[in-house]
Amino acid sequence: MLKEKKEFYKVCFDTMQVGILVCNEQKEIVLENNPLNSIFGYQNNELHGLNAADILRDIALLNNFIQHPKNQKYKTSLESVGIKRDGEEFPIELTFGKLEYENQFYYKALISDISERKEKEKKITTLNYQLEEEVKNRNNELEKVVEQLKKSLNKEIELNHLKTKFIALASHEFKTPLSAILSSTELIVKYTELGKYHKRDTHVAKVKSMIHHLNGMLDDFLTLENIESGNIKPCYTPLNLNKLIKEITKFTKPSLKKGQVLIFENQIDEEIYQDPKLLKIILTNLLYNAIKYSDEESEIHVKISQNKNNIYFSVKDYGIGIPEAEQNLIFNRFFRAKNVLYYPGTGIGLNIVKGYVTSLKGTISFVSKENKGTSFKIQLPKITIQ
Ligand code: ADP
Repeated sequence: MLKEKKEFYKVCFDTMQVGILVCNEQKEIVLENNPLNSIFGYQNNELHGLNAADILRDIALLNNFIQHPKNQKYKTSLESVGIKRDGEEFPIELTFGKLEYENQFYYKALISDISERKEKEKKITTLNYQLEEEVKNRNNELEKVVEQLKKSLNKEIELNHLKTKFIALASHEFKTPLSAILSSTELIVKYTELGKYHKRDTHVAKVKSMIHHLNGMLDDFLTLENIESGNIKPCYTPLNLNKLIKEITKFTKPSLKKGQVLIFENQIDEEIYQDPKLLKIILTNLLYNAIKYSDEESEIHVKISQNKNNIYFSVKDYGIGIPEAEQNLIFNRFFRAKNVLYYPGTGIGLNIVKGYVTSLKGTISFVSKENKGTSFKIQLPKITIQ
């Protein structure tokens, strides 16, 4: 009966789901069940007599338990590493217990192989990491798209705002030249009837100049958007500066005030490569400003010079100047200084000039003193075309 009971216990012991190891205080294995053998790759009875340190890598864990079996830490299962018969290490989960038999203390460990679970956990961690990375990437992309959308929206808003501002300004600015054209045309009729052809011709020139001015304003408006979107592509062609000066003089002369004189000084005889259209707009804008913001009987100097690498243009007047406190703002679109309140203008010209100069890879600078005058200087690199 006793023998049968013993066998029955053994069957129960060997069919447990976990490996059971029992060792004495010296950690010699005194009892083990079949699952423990198969977990660690041993044959029956091979473990018997081995030391627990032969199969548990972290033997300090067991030592600690032997010394402090009541420690809270041992109330739950612990993860550690097992060593198989062939030396291979693998993850295990173990629970320690202490028992007393015939006045001797023994220590048992219930051990499970958790390789599969660990593998799954590892996969899940990797997947989680990949997922987090994916989410991070997507978020970054989304942030970029949102940022771009914000930029386009702001640009759109600014453009709309500018258009509205320009229309308000332009309608105001259109009125003066239009009424001047109207009165000039009436005078043209009158002077023709009276045979005063010289006076008639003066007014014809005035009308022409006003029309150019209006046209210029419209061009400015169209130019704004191109500059904004960086669409200005210079078109370099051979250019004779004396010819260009002649054209600009013809254009601007009718706008000169009484007694105002334009003095040109050109030190470049040879042909240069430049974009004549852009250059003309740059210089006429500066010239119109010089005329507009200086008094009758004053001189305006335009000087063209060069050195080895650059061509320099300067436009100098002896007019109202730019207040020092506002000098850093004058290239801003629509900016007009406080002292030009009673002068017509839209505040677009210098913004365009700066945009064009930049597209020609040049620089613009100025020196100005209120009530003394202003001098703008443009530097453009010399273009050589092979
Ligand atoms: P505007 O149509 O007002 O002349 P611009 O863009 O050409 O616009 O010039 C911007 C501002 O810079 C002007 O409103 C004026 O305050 C100042 N400015 C430009 N050129 C001169 C100059 N030659 N003398 C004095 N002020 C100038």
